[in-house]
Amino acid sequence: MSAAGLAGDVHTHVWAPEHVTEEFMSDLLRAWPGAVGIRADQAAHAEHAAAVDRSVVLAFDAEYAGFMVPDEFVADYVSQDDQRLVGFSSIDPLRRNARDKLARATEQLGLRGVKLAPTYQGFDPLGREAFAMYEAIAERRLPVMWHQGTTFVRKAILAYALPRQIDDVAIRFPEMPIVIAHLGHPWVDECIAVVRKHPRVYADISALISRPVQFRNALITASEYGCGDKLLFGTDWPFSRTLDTAAVLEAWRDDPEAPAALRDTITGILTTDPLKVIGL
Ligand SMILES: [Zn+2]
Repeated sequence: MSAAGLAGDVHTHVWAPEHVTEEFMSDLLRAWPGAVGIRADQAAHAEHAAAVDRSVVLAFDAEYAGFMVPDEFVADYVSQDDQRLVGFSSIDPLRRNARDKLARATEQLGLRGVKLAPTYQGFDPLGREAFAMYEAIAERRLPVMWHQGTTFVRKAILAYALPRQIDDVAIRFPEMPIVIAHLGHPWVDECIAVVRKHPRVYADISALISRPVQFRNALITASEYGCGDKLLFGTDWPFSRTLDTAAVLEAWRDDPEAPAALRDTITGILTTDPLKVIGL
C-alpha cells in the first residue's frame, strides 16, 4: 500500500523544459504567478508517484498551444516502473499521420490510453478528423482522458473546451471509457450532466483544490445528481500534490456538519482504484 493509502492517480504530467514554449509559460505565469520555476521532470515525478500505488502519466501533443510532450518521452519514463506507471499517448487528430501515431503508441511504445485536449490542440472535438480519431481509439478499446475545461492559454478556443462536447462523443462511442479532467471546471454542472447520462463517462477531481469553494460545491452537486461514485482521484501533478489533495478531501469527509452524501462521495473517491474503473 502506498504512503497515502491511495490506489491510483489518474492524471499526472511529466515534461522537460524544451517541451514547453515561452509563450505557453508566460500565459501560465500570468494565471499562476506561483508557478515560477515549476518542474515536472522524471525524478520529481517518481517521488510524487510514490504516494499512490499506480499513476497515469500523460503525453501532450499540443503544438497549437505550445505544449509538446512526446509519446516517446512518456513511454521511456513509464518503462522504468511499468507496474506502477501507466503511460497515455497524446495525438492531435489534425495530424495527417494520426492513425499511424496511435498504432505506434500502443503497439510499439506500450502506451495504454489517449489524452485529448481540443482547446489546447486547436481542433474541433465534433469535427470529421476528430471522429475519425475516436473511431481508431475505440477499435483499440483505449480509455481517453479529455481536457474539457478552461485554460490560461490565450489563444485556446473555449468553445472547444466545453464539457457538453463530450456528450456527442459518448453517444457515438458508448463503450469508450472517458474521463473529463478537473470536473470540467468552471463548467462543473455541465460536466456532471454529461457524467450522469453516460455509464462510461467519468470525471477526475484533479487540480481543483486551489479553488476549494467551487470544488466542494461540485462534489455536493455530483452527489445530488447521483453520480458522485463516478468521480476519480487525480492530482494534475505538478499543479497539485497527492497528499494535499487527500488532506482536503479527508477534512471534508471527517466534518460532522458535512452532508452525508458529500461524505459518501469523498469516501468513494479515496477508496476506489480510478485506473481499474477505466479498464487499466
Ligand atoms: Zn493536466
